[in-house]
Amino acid sequence: MNFAKNAPKPAKLNPNMGLKDRNTFGFESQAEFAYEVTTPEQLPDLMKSIQDQGLAWRVLGGGSNVILPADLPGATLLMNIAGQAILSSDDKNTLISVGAGVNWHELVTWTLEQNLPGLENLALIPGTVGAAPIQNIGAYGVEIGEYIDSIEAFDTAAHAFVTLPRDACQFAYRDSYFKQHPHQMIVTKVVFKIPKEWTPRLQYADLAKQFSQSPTTPTAEEIYIAVCKIRTHKLPDPKVIGNAGSFFQNPIVPNSQYDTLIQQFPQMVSYPDVPGKHKLAAGWLIDQCGFKGITMGPVGVYENQALVLVNHGSGTAKDILGLAKTIQDKVHQEFGVHLLIEPNIL
Ligand SMILES: Cc1cc2nc3c(=O)[nH]c(=O)nc-3n(C[C@H](O)[C@H](O)[C@H](O)COP(=O)(O)OP(=O)(O)OC[C@H]3O[C@@H](n4cnc5c(N)ncnc54)[C@H](O)[C@@H]3O)c2cc1C
Repeated sequence: MNFAKNAPKPAKLNPNMGLKDRNTFGFESQAEFAYEVTTPEQLPDLMKSIQDQGLAWRVLGGGSNVILPADLPGATLLMNIAGQAILSSDDKNTLISVGAGVNWHELVTWTLEQNLPGLENLALIPGTVGAAPIQNIGAYGVEIGEYIDSIEAFDTAAHAFVTLPRDACQFAYRDSYFKQHPHQMIVTKVVFKIPKEWTPRLQYADLAKQFSQSPTTPTAEEIYIAVCKIRTHKLPDPKVIGNAGSFFQNPIVPNSQYDTLIQQFPQMVSYPDVPGKHKLAAGWLIDQCGFKGITMGPVGVYENQALVLVNHGSGTAKDILGLAKTIQDKVHQEFGVHLLIEPNIL
């Protein structure tokens, strides 16, 4: 790679890098060329070199929402851009700018330490800040898109840095412009807008239950602690058992299909979605098909939560996709509903 004399320090190259520790499934995977990106300024030269050589490439954050194959040819960009700062604060909002490589949960904790409540429902979601807008991470009734002011990214098609205001990001349930246009934008920084006015968001049953006996309105810190407690209880720790959180999206169906299903299965777990649609709990559908806790070779379905597929040790992308296909086929056969895989197959 050629760099101009005064160009910023190039991204560090690690040839043939093992990524077992950089994906929460714990799959053995080897990146032909892994580049550690620590500043946005490294991207123009790096991407030019990659594109000029016609190399395959992809971006990797914390690896908590990916299915990695055994070999990743070409360039893998490890997003390690650090740093967070309060940009401005007025009567209504506080703006904070955060590097794409910052750990998501550490950011949530930091905002609370700065007395900036708002992100507490999203505590303990693994991964990096730069990946959070890609699938518009969400939990306990809150989606991150609501708190994003703008995104700074390197547009690999235009070969230029761009700032995308929130409206341009097209946030939807586990979806965004970035997810719809893979390989275009490399997110370098996220600017969050945290409103000064705060109200607890307790509409989700699990969370509401925690505070049902509480005589006073819970604080953001109390909600943060409750969310961490519920998640630790419900979800397997990837350090102990490989997984990528929810493996399937909750399917959204038209009311006509919902009406037929609920008549047939009155116990079905579902939530009203946008007008005319209902969101079905994918975990319930999978559980009804008898998959909870099963194993299929080295992979399986988590015993406490049917939506989570796990790697018991020596599993591969092929194993997990084989299990996913078995589940998708059975759920379709039983309920006529197609389950979409949530993690990105790199
Ligand atoms: C135990 C567990 C629980 C989870 N719970 C939730 C949950 O409650 N809600 C939820 O929404 N998700 C959840 N997830 C999924 C995951 O944590 C999120 O999707 C997270 O945002 C992924 O971050 P990451 O840095 O690990 O991204 P990666 O897995 O590294 O990447 C995910 C995708 O984003 C792309 N990408 C990453 N960084 C960038 C960047 N800077 N620019 C452009 N593209 C990029 C990658 O190419 C890939 O396509 C969970 C995962 C686990 C393991």
